[in-house]
Amino acid sequence: MVQKVSFPSGTVNYHLHSSFGELYALCDMQQAVILTDEHIAALYPHLLKDLRVITIPAGEDSKSITTIARLTKELLEIGATRDTLLIGMGGGVVTDITGFLAAVFMRGIRCGFVPTTLLAMADAAVGGKNGVNNGMYKNMIGTIRQPEFILYDIQLLQTLPQEEWSNGFAEVIKYGCIFDAGLFDELAQHDLAWYMQNNDALNKVIERCVAWKNRTVAEDEHEKGIRKLLNFGHTAGHAIEKLYALPHGKAVAIGMMIACHISEQQTGLDAATTQQLEAALQRYHLPVHMAIDTAKVMALLQTDKKRKDDSINYILLQDKGKAVIHPLRLPVIEKALASL
Ligand code: ADP
Ligand code: ZN
Repeated sequence: MVQKVSFPSGTVNYHLHSSFGELYALCDMQQAVILTDEHIAALYPHLLKDLRVITIPAGEDSKSITTIARLTKELLEIGATRDTLLIGMGGGVVTDITGFLAAVFMRGIRCGFVPTTLLAMADAAVGGKNGVNNGMYKNMIGTIRQPEFILYDIQLLQTLPQEEWSNGFAEVIKYGCIFDAGLFDELAQHDLAWYMQNNDALNKVIERCVAWKNRTVAEDEHEKGIRKLLNFGHTAGHAIEKLYALPHGKAVAIGMMIACHISEQQTGLDAATTQQLEAALQRYHLPVHMAIDTAKVMALLQTDKKRKDDSINYILLQDKGKAVIHPLRLPVIEKALASL
């Protein structure tokens, strides 16, 4: 099933319910170079044999300008040209690097993604944001540029460790919170083990998240307005992720709980919704609370890209399935964090 989605910067073919082998029908694999991480290359040698493959070490540390410089050299060494199609096969780290490398190599070559984590399938690979980190500053160097295609092969998730499934569900639950009360309720009724065994249900959930993200990004690719809603759970979440070296999904889970507590005070969110979110997150083995050092979190929030003067456009919930952008003064956030 192919879905064409148009964005201001380009059109993406979404190959949903697909399989890795379909790549051969979709593109000229003679022109392709696969970029993947060492972990995935070791798990799927049968899929990659006979293809040109370049690899990065698994993990966030690979998201650096040093990696981009090295990969540029490797591409040249294996004979890549302006006609090369770079295919990123991996989690969000791989797709972020692939998108950026393709945007800058020889001033731009074609690229496509085969996401292999739930997090990348439902969220990270979608929407055209790419980039690398600059030390502590996440995603500070990057572009917004759409890949030509994203191919979904859910079988690739069979090797995904349970912790990575949990991380992916944090973003999936995020879509329920901000846009889709029906999705939220479905997720709250089931649990991680159930989705791990129900491919059809999982595919539908992924498609629903992709549809919400595409709708949002098509309207606001450069995050001037509505795209900001996708940052629900990410403001405090990013700070916690950095400070305590937590995986992204876990930090977002805690960030969403914090945002709900602040929402109760600021938008009158029903406390029952916060409790439902807490119960839902626990069904996917995600943390819901953490003793945080308020001063350190505040210090990081001061450097947040979203800060304006002494306010941050915080994403709060008005209701289950309804997020709003809400400017909050830093002292108000500080007080809320200290009272958790
Ligand atoms: P994210 O999508 O969460 O941003 P990463 O790109 O950092 O994630 O991937 C998370 C980890 O999962 C990495 O160690 C990566 O090698 C591993 N990984 C990715 N996809 C798979 C898979 N299908 N099977 C097993 N491990 C995988
Ligand atoms: Zn995220």
